[in-house]
Amino acid sequence: MDAPTLPISPAGRSDLTHHLHPYTQLRQLEREGPLVIVRGDGVNVFDEHGNGYIEGMAGLWCASLGFSEKRLADAAYRQMTTLPYYHSFSGKVPGPVAALVDKLIEWAPVPMGRVLFANSGSEANDTAFKLVRYYNNARGRPLKKKIIARNKGYHGVTMAAASLSGLPMMHQHFDLPLPDVVRVSCPHFYQFGLPGETEAQFVDRLAQELEDTIQREGPETVAAFIAEPVQGAGGVVVPPAGYFAKVQAILKKHDILLIADEVITGFGRLGQPFGTQVFDLKPDMITVAKMLTSAYVPMSALYVSDQIYQAVADASAAVGVFGHGYTYSGHPLACAVALETLRIYEDDRIVDHVREVAPRLQDGLRKFASHPLVGQARGLGLIGALELAADPAQRKPFEPARGVGAYFVRRAQAHGLIVRVLGGDIIAFSPPLVITEAEIDAMLARTELALADTWEWVR
Ligand code: PLP
Repeated sequence: MDAPTLPISPAGRSDLTHHLHPYTQLRQLEREGPLVIVRGDGVNVFDEHGNGYIEGMAGLWCASLGFSEKRLADAAYRQMTTLPYYHSFSGKVPGPVAALVDKLIEWAPVPMGRVLFANSGSEANDTAFKLVRYYNNARGRPLKKKIIARNKGYHGVTMAAASLSGLPMMHQHFDLPLPDVVRVSCPHFYQFGLPGETEAQFVDRLAQELEDTIQREGPETVAAFIAEPVQGAGGVVVPPAGYFAKVQAILKKHDILLIADEVITGFGRLGQPFGTQVFDLKPDMITVAKMLTSAYVPMSALYVSDQIYQAVADASAAVGVFGHGYTYSGHPLACAVALETLRIYEDDRIVDHVREVAPRLQDGLRKFASHPLVGQARGLGLIGALELAADPAQRKPFEPARGVGAYFVRRAQAHGLIVRVLGGDIIAFSPPLVITEAEIDAMLARTELALADTWEWVR
């Protein structure tokens, strides 16, 4: 690993002393200090020394409108000075919820009955986990509780959401996963396709694995299947053609709910409003977060079908109340910002914009496919990845300990580009949706420089 490029500032020093950083190599951070980001402008962010970076990840796949959208700041200020807080418990509701739920139901990719609010993607998925239980208890099927989730899936970090996630470092030392989570394979053909296997055969093999898993567990015990339409944190995995059609046919046969985790893909990232439309999904629940507010304030939501809502409402009548909710469910500030975000998406035809500029990113990434460091370039819409490989022809990865992906990220940062390395030396790109073609070109040019530096370092 090369030396840190910047001295540790007083702000960085304080941070190091008292802040327990999420998703960070903590001992390395202690040596090197954090990058302190203090300002944003469009798709760029600036550190405390004034250095600018294109935010090629929109933060954490979330700041869709970039880092200086004034309409959102104004909407937040108006709400803060009108009604800064109220709740939705016991028959009350803050005013801005009504307009937001109407808008969300309008945006829903399939007919949905109700929307529940939470504060993060993790909480939305946690709520889905709980509602699967509530629903099947309500329907008199107390055995039908298990949820099938996929290797390399990412659904968040609460106890339930981390259990659903299929990344080992999220379970190790946390004594996870919880019971009732059943795992199946990740549909990443590049990594998991067998020698000589076609993509279609790979899909058939995964479908058979799903069927066998359900039979092994007992269909009467399997309640739901959760999936990101495109797996994000697990490596930007775009499923092969026909995968979801086969999966859904099996789920339908066994009366298993589909939960679409659209926390990354919701609101236009793939060039359609939702991944549900891209892959012709028929979800019973959908979770959204991140781009719901362009990440300017925390908010997530869980859509549930009317069938689920009716069962929950009946069952809760017997108990007295529906015993679930957060202090900040439907927080008025978040509602105001979410509503304004969705209006901007509509006014600026943001989904059309994604479709227009996405080829620039996708073609640009695919041009790197012949680089000697790149095993595969892939993506869809404004999400993409370069999977680095020691031997691209053999799809042979680098030894993880070499930290090749981490080195690339540091060189990209030195060239003014923030991107992220995912497990397996996969470099992820997920820029703000408002990015222009010229800014995509700049991002690709900086990527090329970082690839050259990394190649120099490894060979
Ligand atoms: N689901 C997906 C697909 C995600 O990518 C994430 C976060 O990256 C989550 C859920 C968890 O969201 P949060 O970090 O807001 O809890």
